[in-house]
Amino acid sequence: MNSGALKTFLAQNEVQKLVQSLAHQINEDYKQVSTDENPLVIAITLKGALFFGADLIRELTIPVYVETIRVASYGASTQSSGKINLVKDLETDIKDKNILILDEIADTGRTLKFLTELFAAKSAKSVKVCALLSKPSRREVEVKLDYCGREVDDFFLVGYGLDFNEKYRQLKDISILFNA
Ligand code: 5GP
Ligand code: MG
Repeated sequence: MNSGALKTFLAQNEVQKLVQSLAHQINEDYKQVSTDENPLVIAITLKGALFFGADLIRELTIPVYVETIRVASYGASTQSSGKINLVKDLETDIKDKNILILDEIADTGRTLKFLTELFAAKSAKSVKVCALLSKPSRREVEVKLDYCGREVDDFFLVGYGLDFNEKYRQLKDISILFNA
């Protein structure tokens, strides 16, 4: 299934440690505010954060409600087009709800800026962001990452939900893709 060379960047156990650490922080921060009547609404960004979301949510001990949203910014390349399209919206009313967006990686920041503004416009009570990875050197718009697993240099990464032309998502490690 290879079209470029892969070099392991974060092995499966390192990825899982980051996930557990993020979940621990989220459990602590929301334990007073999240109840069965007012669960934290988790918005998983499809498709990339599918695996991250599944793992992180199972480490949470607070009541949560799981939602998915899909935006697209990348075409068939390793560069963002810069334009965000809403492909699939949330399916529930989030007015007065606490929202936590899960994304696998913050790059230019455009996706997360778009989503935080969208949820604020839907009158969410609070909107926070949790990104497994972040590439600060690539940021084009400012976005606050309330939870960030790890900052990384400007590599193109695949695995654990991250794809190149839909390939590599199922890999358990996160790897650098060279010569794509
Ligand atoms: P942003 O809007 O911050 O530029 O891009 C965010 C999205 O671009 C991420 O959620 C992810 O889907 C994709 N992306 C950013 N960097 C990478 C990368 O290194 N590898 C892959 N496969 N996707 C990336
Ligand atoms: Mg994504």
